[in-house]
Amino acid sequence: SVAQSLNTRPHCGPQNEKSMTDKSIVMNAVNKWYGSLHVLKNIDLTVDRGEHIVVCGPSGSGKSTMIRCINYLEEIQSGSIEVNGTQLGHKGGNADHIRREVGMVFQQFNLFPHLTVLENCMLAPRRVRKHSSAEAKDQAMRYLERVHIAEQAHKYPAQLSGGQQQRVAIARALCMDPKIMLFDEPTSALDPEMVKEVLDTMVSLADDGITMICVTHEMGFAKAVAHRVVFMDRGEIIESGRPTEFFSNPSHERTRAFLGQIL
Ligand code: ADP
Ligand code: MG
Repeated sequence: SVAQSLNTRPHCGPQNEKSMTDKSIVMNAVNKWYGSLHVLKNIDLTVDRGEHIVVCGPSGSGKSTMIRCINYLEEIQSGSIEVNGTQLGHKGGNADHIRREVGMVFQQFNLFPHLTVLENCMLAPRRVRKHSSAEAKDQAMRYLERVHIAEQAHKYPAQLSGGQQQRVAIARALCMDPKIMLFDEPTSALDPEMVKEVLDTMVSLADDGITMICVTHEMGFAKAVAHRVVFMDRGEIIESGRPTEFFSNPSHERTRAFLGQIL
């Protein structure tokens, strides 16, 4: 049909044109080099609205680079990335627009140390969304309650445990009302007893139906929330599948070897 052919034609319209699909993220033949190091090799990945993807793979395989490319923290050299129907230009065109829709949580929390928890959560909504102070505060407190940390709102990051800081980082990202959340090993820097409180927060977000890509080796989390697990090695997506099949019957030798090490 005409509608189908419109939906499947290559991207050729103006950069801000909204596509008619239900795709949150479309990565098409993405390549990235650091100098002569080819870190992403022809990455194709499509994420549906509301889909939860877990990315795993050995250290150095390109997981962080891949998700950092999605909000233009890294530049790609070829291929295309489309986020909520907006194509990210190779030179960072539309990056600001896309970053407003994408929240990111890092391994090292990255909270501003000189701002309180509440101020950390209010900063971007005030500056970027131009929310009033009262509006930003209301919303920040709502999300801090949501991650069960509202009582710490007036503390500084250094006064909190790692697990608490990471929950603040999640609340801070949510304060921008992102349509997509990217997590890069959010529990890897935490003491074991704090991992669960952060994973529980992420499970509850997933239950709300937000689109999510999470780099993690927490396989219990993957089994609980992932629609798909993607395995990367040496810059390539080697295979992807539903968690049950992926864990019980991986097709590739490299995936089996990797799972053998972490499970
Ligand atoms: P992962 O997250 O899977 O551990 P990364 O995406 O961090 O992998 O890294 C992929 C490869 O790119 C690694 O070989 C890493 O050393 C290299 N790399 C990452 N960031 C940079 C950078 N800023 N400059 C040069 N090389 C980098
Ligand atoms: Mg990484």
